[in-house]
Amino acid sequence: MKEIILVKYGEIILKGGNRPKFEKKLLDNIRNSMKNVAKINMYMAQATVYIEPEEEDKIDIICERLCKIFGIVTVCKAAICEKNMDSIKKTAVEYCRDELLPGKKFKVEAKRSDKAFPLNSVQLAIDVGGYIHENVEGLLVDVHNPEVTVQVEVRDHNAFVYCREKRMMGQGGMPIGTGGKATLLLSGGIDSPVAGHMIAKRGIEIDAVNFFSFPYTSERAKEKVIELASIIARYTSKINLYIVPFTDIQLAIKDNCPEEHLTLIMRRFMMKISEIIASKNGSQALITGESAGQVASQTLAALHVTNSVCTMPVLRPLIGMDKTEIIERSQKIDAFETSILPYEDCCTVFTPRHPATNPKLYAIEKSESKLDVDRLIEEAVNGVEKICVFPKL
Ligand code: ATP
Ligand code: MG
Repeated sequence: MKEIILVKYGEIILKGGNRPKFEKKLLDNIRNSMKNVAKINMYMAQATVYIEPEEEDKIDIICERLCKIFGIVTVCKAAICEKNMDSIKKTAVEYCRDELLPGKKFKVEAKRSDKAFPLNSVQLAIDVGGYIHENVEGLLVDVHNPEVTVQVEVRDHNAFVYCREKRMMGQGGMPIGTGGKATLLLSGGIDSPVAGHMIAKRGIEIDAVNFFSFPYTSERAKEKVIELASIIARYTSKINLYIVPFTDIQLAIKDNCPEEHLTLIMRRFMMKISEIIASKNGSQALITGESAGQVASQTLAALHVTNSVCTMPVLRPLIGMDKTEIIERSQKIDAFETSILPYEDCCTVFTPRHPATNPKLYAIEKSESKLDVDRLIEEAVNGVEKICVFPKL
């Protein structure tokens, strides 16, 4: 039996006059993500993308890929059949046979966009439902609480049949590239990859910046960050990762500033340098994995101190989330196992024993004034290494 994939998208439908632009982007993103995976034929009609694999055995890997593309709400394999009742009924029984088991409650739902088809959608559902009931033993009809829903769609050239419960959930959100671009401060931890994924979900392209303190942080720690970027890239296609040499800045802070201000001054450098990189690469915002009150540098007073060095909006999608919620999301996007690998991060190496939790901006600025901030920033920016990271297979 010939199969096709039906892809349904959500919020794009609400885009009014801009809808075609969003739909085109979604198709482009699907086409791009199938490069090196499978050859497909694809068309769009009635808020559905129809995807036919050129090789049948690639259908599952294609579905798996589709489930990672933002903008897609559901992905479903369906049987294609001729647009006549005989063929629709036989296909329904055959294609959904594994689900239509004795004792199961089922119903049929039908949609008809071809208004010339002799039966309307209610008649279609009753007719196909009757046939299934007669031809599969032990089934119970239940239109309110079905365990199996056989879905029939009659479209322009063909009809499609599938079992609704077998649909796979996509990511939702908006197609990448429809919402501008932002730069993610990506550490090696649990939080920042989740933050990047959440913002990318809104259609925003992502670049990433990592602050790296060689030799205090090892080459393996760098590989871990690249790996995390490649996990995020599964959802965004490609990520430019900027590695910033941070050792000189950290040593200068450590040698010249009071210990309780170390983290905040360090974070102010991170924000400022990220903003410079972000404006060069065409980003309109920064993203961090900060969550209110998680650590001393994430109290509201601390956020005020770090935020005040940049003028770009700073997106903090995790701000109101608990660690357990963040971990759940991290597991869902498959980043968790990598995030918990035990390599040191540049922050952990220079962490003060008693960081300030209620810092005053003027006090931090005074401590910072001992440093040649402009020169340190310039040198760090000049030493940036750019790595183009592709999706992890
Ligand atoms: P994460 O769990 O993402 O590592 P964290 O728990 O380490 O965050 P902090 O060290 O306070 O928390 O960092 C807060 C945010 O600052 C991170 O979520 C990230 O966006 C950014 N950040 C921290 N360290 C780095 C780094 N070495 N490179 C880039 N960004 C960083
Ligand atoms: Mg954190």
